[in-house]
Amino acid sequence: MIVAKDKIVSFDYTLKDSEGIVLDSSEGREPLAYLHGADNIIPGLEDALSGKSSGDQVSAVIEPENAYGPRDDALVGKVPKENLEGVEDIQIGLQLQVQTPSGSKVVHVTHIDEETVTIDANHPLAGVTLHFDVTVTEVRDATAEEVEHGHAHGPGGEHH
Ligand code: ZN
Repeated sequence: MIVAKDKIVSFDYTLKDSEGIVLDSSEGREPLAYLHGADNIIPGLEDALSGKSSGDQVSAVIEPENAYGPRDDALVGKVPKENLEGVEDIQIGLQLQVQTPSGSKVVHVTHIDEETVTIDANHPLAGVTLHFDVTVTEVRDATAEEVEHGHAHGPGGEHH
């Protein structure tokens, strides 16, 4: 079966940056399953998998515009430490959920000074060119329920 709209695609992957550093991998985990054509995964990877079938290996280099977008320096800001009272053990890389006028947003801590903490609301992979090595492990028809929900369900029909 060929990867196309309304198929459930399972794949193993390793994601590296341009220096060859592994950023993420499905190794030791179940393959990732998604509904093709429903914006479940980044557009560049969906394009790379289109037309493939089970057992195919795909290497794709995906520019930020087709992944997590460019970095936006306006999304970086300093907050007084006292505003983060109640947050235990602030350290670089820590993810925080903050309330903004447009809803809650995940930010991460990039710098800590005596008085202030720098937080960054960019996606950690914004501005990063992604190097994917993917093996397609399964392609199947989505169920009517999966199409309706817009995502893949587990082997027993459960939500992920
Ligand atoms: Zn569902």
